[in-house]
Amino acid sequence: MSDALNYQPDCLFCKIVKGEIPSNKVYEDDLCYAFYDIDPQAPTHFLVIPKAHIGSCGEITRGNSALVGRLFEVISQVTRDLGLTDFRVVSNCGAQAGQSVPHLHFHVLAGRDMTWPPG
Ligand code: 5GP
Ligand code: ZN
Repeated sequence: MSDALNYQPDCLFCKIVKGEIPSNKVYEDDLCYAFYDIDPQAPTHFLVIPKAHIGSCGEITRGNSALVGRLFEVISQVTRDLGLTDFRVVSNCGAQAGQSVPHLHFHVLAGRDMTWPPG
């Protein structure tokens, strides 16, 4: 199973998927995991990730993009379950864009006014 997930021993989110680091789970299925951000930037702030290690949006290919569709199904389902109608989905790709954990993740932020353009 670890091989199928392309487990990276140095990756924080791979460790969260494995349960080696605790997290506050919002949703889980065979392919996807969602959990609240440890440093929330909005009243509701959770992360949706593939269980398999993919580095960032820059590593999405024809071979793994169906999984990204699943992640967006999860975003739609979980926001609906939480009663959120207005929310922002963000994925930082690369250090200059603010990515600090190199395992693909979508931030879902809600519960306050959002500005545009983002900082
Ligand atoms: P990035 O900066 O890569 O776009 O997003 C990484 C996110 O992971 C940050 O918002 C950060 O607060 C969150 N994060 C970092 N370490 C942990 C952790 O151990 N647990 C949880 N739940 N979130 C974390
Ligand atoms: Zn990982």
